[in-house]
Amino acid sequence: MYAPPVQRLITELSRLPGVGGRTAQRLAFHLLRVNEEEALALADAIREVKQRIGLCEVCFNLADGPRCRICADERRDPELICVVEEPSDVISIERTHEFRGRYHVLGGALSPIDGIDPEDLKIAELYARVAEGAVREVVIATNPTTTGEATALHIAEGVRTQAPDVAVTRLASGLPVGADLEYADELTLGRALAGRRAV
Ligand SMILES: [Zn+2]
Repeated sequence: MYAPPVQRLITELSRLPGVGGRTAQRLAFHLLRVNEEEALALADAIREVKQRIGLCEVCFNLADGPRCRICADERRDPELICVVEEPSDVISIERTHEFRGRYHVLGGALSPIDGIDPEDLKIAELYARVAEGAVREVVIATNPTTTGEATALHIAEGVRTQAPDVAVTRLASGLPVGADLEYADELTLGRALAGRRAV
């Protein structure tokens, strides 16, 4: 139906989350209509982000160097680590301005049914950070979903075994159950963080 290059663009666009076939087609025709400079700016932005952005060597947040902005910031409390599933969760928590510690990004949540086991996440790396001895509290801020809760329990147990002196806390209830952290508003998330409880 389309020339192969157009079909290729539609196929690639339709792989994006939330973009169905019809939207992909509309976006493709938009890109065909705009001038070359505008269309290639999008291609360049994608290329640049893939070439320049990697994972922080300490916390696995997104970083444009070996360490992310937060790990490189001396004013952030290194004794307090907030464990989240994805880099987008770091943004959500930063927006609350309630947290002055550092982060640890797992890269997902445990889900044996989908084949996601502890070794597929940055869990061993978290234990290694805790075992270095400079950590006072681990705040578990995985999503209030089934997989997020299972991950929280697993990590709480693991940290307790590895470092019994480290406090392990979980965000207070009040977050919408079953929803992802990134959809919680700043006030709710800020309150959940302030009211975190031991697990
Ligand atoms: Zn970092």
